[in-house]
Amino acid sequence: MSDCLFCRIARKEISSAIVYEDELVVAFRDINPVAPVHILIVPKVHLENIADLGEEHRELAGHLLLKAREIAEKEGISDSGYRLVSNCRKDGGQEIYHLHFHLIGGRPLGKFA
Ligand code: 5GP
Ligand code: ZN
Repeated sequence: MSDCLFCRIARKEISSAIVYEDELVVAFRDINPVAPVHILIVPKVHLENIADLGEEHRELAGHLLLKAREIAEKEGISDSGYRLVSNCRKDGGQEIYHLHFHLIGGRPLGKFA
């Protein structure tokens, strides 16, 4: 998926405000933040969404979750709290079909409808 937006961001062909990167994941600020902290955490490998995850991604899935926790701590939102969301397919409201977790915080977020 060489023309996928988040693949291109991961390859730095499109600029973004990267806050964390390692061999498996990249995390960057959402271009249209809904809260003071709004970071997208994405695997470098192209997977469409959570529905694409298989047994072979067990380590990657755990890595994404633990990195989200670490980034929340670094961003200073861990004590007050935050939300980690991954939208999946049409009813989930997914717009970019490259797996990503939204790390959102820095203000009270309320409950889901
Ligand atoms: P989704 O609706 O697929 O869960 O979320 C996609 C997110 O990607 C949206 O929050 C949107 O603001 C963000 N986004 C879309 N295009 C870009 C971009 O070019 N750069 C960055 N940093 N974020 C983007
Ligand atoms: Zn991709």
